[in-house]
Amino acid sequence: MAGLATGQGLGRPFLYPPGSSIGPTREKDMMKELPLPSVTSSAWEDGYLPKACYDVARNAIPAMTSADFEVRNLRFSDCSLGSWAVCRHKGSGASWDLITGALGRIPVGMRQDFANLIVLTDAHGCAFVTGGPSIVVSRGCLTVGVLAHEGSHILDCYTLLPLVRENGYPDQCYSSTNMWLGAYKKDSYVVTTYANTNQLENFAEVGTFALSHFTHPGGLGAYASNWTKISNQMGNYQARLENIMLPESGRCTHKVPTTPAVNFNGEAASKRDVESAEMKAFKREDKCNLSK
Ligand SMILES: [Zn+2]
Repeated sequence: MAGLATGQGLGRPFLYPPGSSIGPTREKDMMKELPLPSVTSSAWEDGYLPKACYDVARNAIPAMTSADFEVRNLRFSDCSLGSWAVCRHKGSGASWDLITGALGRIPVGMRQDFANLIVLTDAHGCAFVTGGPSIVVSRGCLTVGVLAHEGSHILDCYTLLPLVRENGYPDQCYSSTNMWLGAYKKDSYVVTTYANTNQLENFAEVGTFALSHFTHPGGLGAYASNWTKISNQMGNYQARLENIMLPESGRCTHKVPTTPAVNFNGEAASKRDVESAEMKAFKREDKCNLSK
């Protein structure tokens, strides 16, 4: 969510200001309506973590260390092709149930392109995308809506890259191509205040509302009739991404691998170390209790 504002922004009228009730209402509905696959969880051996988490720890403000993380592999029942290595700051206050409840509700076609998820304290800001591509999120921002926003950045700049290339563009995010800007120009509104930051944030804000549009009975129209003021942007997002986010099979088609395992000095774990870590993790595997 947090991202450096670049330039002067889009300067358009918007549908929903900060604090609009549609945010919490959508979140409540997504928690109720999006299916949650079951999950098995296994801890990484002490002393190792994914490189993306190591890099975040090294650059974090306020300062933290690799040892502040607890790392677990989460394996969801809708994807047998890989697992999600999640780094949880031990002081974040985020329980594993909260983490799996938000991450697991992200449709598998979006979730499969997250390398790692990194959960920090609220002192570390809200959320952003980093290497992998991985998502960094604080406890207070750990919601389905925020993960769908960050996930949309990954769809925009990573998942859609083959399409961008096929259409003759150099490597760039989809939201900076005319494939997107053409639809944007046909509308006169953006969805939220934050969408005015730039096209990257505009696309990601359309994306989080798109998740409701695709999955809530009646779509966005069930919340507010004014959404049609962004219907060209929403229609473009839907045409490009609905089938990718929500594959007909309901299952992943791949899983972007976790960033490589490193030790607390940032050195690549040797193959033997990784194998032994995986073996130990396997022995400690246990079921997360997700019933509330
Ligand atoms: Zn963003």
